Amino acid sequence: MNASLDNSRFRAQIESGIPDIHPSRLLLSIVVPVFNERSVIQLFIARLYTVLLQIDYKFEIVFVDDGSTDGTTEFLQKLAFRHGYIRLVKLSRNFGKEAAMTAGLDRAHGDAVILIDADLQDPPELIPDMIAAWQRGADTVVMRRSSRAGESFLKRASAHCFYRLLNFLSELSIPEDTGDFRLLSRRAVDTLSTLPERSRYMKGLFAWIGLPVEIINYNRAPRAAGETKWSFLGLCRLAMEGIVSFSTIPLRAVTWLGGIAALGSVAFGIWVVCKTFLFGEPVSGYPSIIVTVTFIGGVQLISIGLLGEYMARIYVESKQRPIYVIQDEYSVNPVTQRDASAFNAGGHHA
Ligand code: UDP
Ligand code: MG
Repeated sequence: MNASLDNSRFRAQIESGIPDIHPSRLLLSIVVPVFNERSVIQLFIARLYTVLLQIDYKFEIVFVDDGSTDGTTEFLQKLAFRHGYIRLVKLSRNFGKEAAMTAGLDRAHGDAVILIDADLQDPPELIPDMIAAWQRGADTVVMRRSSRAGESFLKRASAHCFYRLLNFLSELSIPEDTGDFRLLSRRAVDTLSTLPERSRYMKGLFAWIGLPVEIINYNRAPRAAGETKWSFLGLCRLAMEGIVSFSTIPLRAVTWLGGIAALGSVAFGIWVVCKTFLFGEPVSGYPSIIVTVTFIGGVQLISIGLLGEYMARIYVESKQRPIYVIQDEYSVNPVTQRDASAFNAGGHHA
């Protein structure tokens, strides 16, 4: 079904005040990336299912197993064979959450797709509100965390600073304090799938596509069970990914820094020459030389490192490798190949 038609249909209904007579014909996909979530997955499905039963849509839950090794895969396999509304897309190894979400979006069939974490930090109970916003015409319904319980001060503070820095550096406006928890219309999902890049900083890509956005505030719950999969280093890497993928300002800043350093050294040179002529040159100035040399050295290494960050991205993009590899797909119904560009290395299980 064409999503832009859907949206215009919703808008027409709102304007005319006529209630939708066929809401249950629409399909809602819930995409869940999972990586070693055995301790929480059962509770997650129970809570999600309770919510989904209350809404007036057909639904499917697409789990993307991102290389779990703790029995999550086997558990979800069984469910996928038993229940028509559960599908499992098993990646061939751990590709990371961004790739897993991309795989899920590519494999979801829904007229709207909701991305949600498996650890119950994103409460499934908010799904009806998200659907309501979608019906009002939003292509993206972003969930903004007005509080983040159960996360360390360091994580909250660094996240706060990072979102503000990223918005300052990039031309995009990425809503602050939002995660990946969101609803995307079919039109938004299809637009997203036309972006071919390998470095997938999803929050940036979501913002890049534009289209009407609605923001809903919520309180982020602590993890229901299990542990966060993000190390501090992992988060730093993601932050670098976000900045380098969505801003070229650091490159330009290096040029300016170089210019300022060059001008400074000319001025310093003139001062040294004048001083020598006026007062002669007793051999001294070792401290100023060593400070200057180490400072310039540091600036140069940072600049080269920064260039390296951008170059590494060009290198990765130029290899044109797929973003993820699907090993197997499990569902009761034979999987329909909606997207021929999905990189399916294994067979289907029907
Ligand atoms: N996740 C994933 N692949 C990874 C890391 C995480 O699919 O390499 C999933 C994880 O199972 C969870 C979601 O991404 O459903 C969010 O992960 P987590 O709760 O560890 O992140 P946090 O909420 O701490 O940012
Ligand atoms: Mg979490």
